[in-house]
Amino acid sequence: MTTLADEAAALLNIRLTAGQEAAFDVYARELSVWNARINLTAITDQEGVRVRHFLDSLTVASVVPVTAGARFIDVGTGAGFPGLPLKIAFPDIHMTLLEATNKKLNFLRHVCEAVGVTNGVAFLHARAEDAGQMPDQRASYDAVLARAVARLPVLLEYLLPLAKVGGRCIAMKGKTAQEEAEASTRALKALGGRLVGVETVQLPGVDEAHYLVVVEKVTPTAAAYPRKPGIPTKSPL
Ligand code: SAM
Repeated sequence: MTTLADEAAALLNIRLTAGQEAAFDVYARELSVWNARINLTAITDQEGVRVRHFLDSLTVASVVPVTAGARFIDVGTGAGFPGLPLKIAFPDIHMTLLEATNKKLNFLRHVCEAVGVTNGVAFLHARAEDAGQMPDQRASYDAVLARAVARLPVLLEYLLPLAKVGGRCIAMKGKTAQEEAEASTRALKALGGRLVGVETVQLPGVDEAHYLVVVEKVTPTAAAYPRKPGIPTKSPL
């Protein structure tokens, strides 16, 4: 039987311990139990959760340094993707899980306790537009991540204010990645970002490619951004 540890080693050169594998098993089980009560994911089969949630989340480690003490935030984390699998695989990073819906954060609090992830994790119940204006959040992260939250010109207004200058934003995207990156020139300029590249990810047994849009923060973001909740979606940069 294929395991997450085999696939993480083969695809990403990530070595998971038996304890980490057990933590992923508990995470998968709790996801299934809670999903019956609150809508957390449409992917429910074992292989789908392992590959499309866990392994997909871990691919971020191929484009950002996961060094001890590095500060990560996952914006619109939902059921924890990609932030929580990364925190389980790299326990020495600091991970903030940001989510607008508190019941999803309650699930994540529960899973973290169940798998023993208690140090270096924070739960932030907020809109990204508000978090980006909080003095203790703004410009304080080495890596700012998001999967399936918004189109890139909108998403960049959520992500770039949270990054330190020199830090990276990673947007996990499907087949529209390149087109979205091309549509983001104005947003990048306004927010102090530079497109580093669009990396292709091919997950085992998954036909369609996934993409990691990598953006570096090169200058501080102007105080006007992010604008008030809802405005980035209504009037993208
Ligand atoms: N990232 C997860 C994944 O890939 O499985 C969840 C994706 S889900 C489609 C989008 C999530 O982003 C939802 O849980 C939603 O509540 C959250 N979200 C959307 N806009 C947000 C915002 N402006 N601030 C914070 N969370 C937001």
